[in-house]
Amino acid sequence: MGPMPRAVTGSRADGRYAEHTVRSRSLWERALGVLPGGNTRTTVFQEPYPLYLERGHGSRVVDVDGVERIDFINNYTSLVHGHCHPGSVEAVQRQAARLVSAAGPGELEVEMAERLRERVPSIELTRFTNSGTEATMQAIRAARAFTGRTRIATFAGAYHGTHDYANAIPASPSDTPGGPGIPQGVADSLVVAPFNDRERTRAVVEPHLGDLAAIVVEPVMGAAGVIPPDEGFLPFLRELADAAGALLVFDEVIAFRVGYHGAQGRYRVVPDVTALGKIIGGGLPIGAFGGRAEVMELFDPRDERRLAHGGTFNGNPLSMAAGLAALDALTEAELDRLETLGADLEAGLDRVLAESGRPARVTRVGSLFNLHLGATSIREHSDALAGDLEGLRRLHLALLGHGILSTPRGMGCLSTPMSGTEIDAFVEAVGLALGELD
Ligand code: PMP
Repeated sequence: MGPMPRAVTGSRADGRYAEHTVRSRSLWERALGVLPGGNTRTTVFQEPYPLYLERGHGSRVVDVDGVERIDFINNYTSLVHGHCHPGSVEAVQRQAARLVSAAGPGELEVEMAERLRERVPSIELTRFTNSGTEATMQAIRAARAFTGRTRIATFAGAYHGTHDYANAIPASPSDTPGGPGIPQGVADSLVVAPFNDRERTRAVVEPHLGDLAAIVVEPVMGAAGVIPPDEGFLPFLRELADAAGALLVFDEVIAFRVGYHGAQGRYRVVPDVTALGKIIGGGLPIGAFGGRAEVMELFDPRDERRLAHGGTFNGNPLSMAAGLAALDALTEAELDRLETLGADLEAGLDRVLAESGRPARVTRVGSLFNLHLGATSIREHSDALAGDLEGLRRLHLALLGHGILSTPRGMGCLSTPMSGTEIDAFVEAVGLALGELD
């Protein structure tokens, strides 16, 4: 992700935010004494200070000042059924009273892996992790071990978590990979291409074909601005990986929710390895990576040359229980309903944005969306960065004043407890908030 815009915190939206977030502010000031910048999750920091959340129910979330809002981010797309989904709550309560974690496998991890394979046939074998970060890290390691090669092709602005390779990816393809604390060898092993640009991707990747272990891509870019793949782009990557003898790795940590069979089902491109996370845990910490049996068999502990992949909480029963309940409730009919709600939201936003007279664009795939101000064509991350990021930050603060929780980058998502009422409320709130940005 690129840098946050430098906030001009004296705006009208900032003033209103300060008025109704008194306890959030005091908690953040207390946190400053014990957490760097008062923060333990960079991705939820916002200027002037974060909103502290206390409880939620369905599509609603309540902050520490007691203000209820409609949650249009759902823990950055993890809570596909909103807060306190009854099935997951019941499954967690039942499991918590039986076994929280133990030094041995349980039936739930088997059931969960079977469930994933039913939905995503390319995942022949799975390994569970505790986060999407671990899932992409292990997927990269598997690809290198399988191919015996080093280089990894990624896309500028992609977010794959917080391990060294993920954090080394620059926001723009013209920037050098790397960053503070990241070994040069890690940075040097990355090649960075622009999403949705076949010619430039080919030019960037081709010099390294002989040493390419994997092409790692979010089939729908998430944090980069909810950017759908142009028609033909993912098949092109499949061909490029095949021509190189490299693996194609889909990071579907966010994108999995765009179809019953994930993004790979929606776009009909089969990767070798898939990384998952977020919604498959029903709100609890989770990650998973899986794919072709011959790749995943590298993790078979019966093989002396195996890749060791421990993890005290891998496949932990609570995440498995919550995840199974969440997946079972995410039927094709529910996904179709979310698709329709997403289309209604997009149409409503297009209308209020046109009325506002601002150059703007809504990108959307299924229940994921991103509102972009000051930019009208969004095909790669740099297009989103070139927009009015300070305007988006203020829009987010103004929306909080109209009962909506989204994000300072304009990204949002729907949850299954929502209906037309929530969509209408969002569209109306954006219309009002657009008038309060100065
Ligand atoms: N991949 C993608 C596409 C993500 O969006 C994220 C998190 N937002 C991750 C990986 C990392 O997942 P986690 O935060 O669970 O480590």
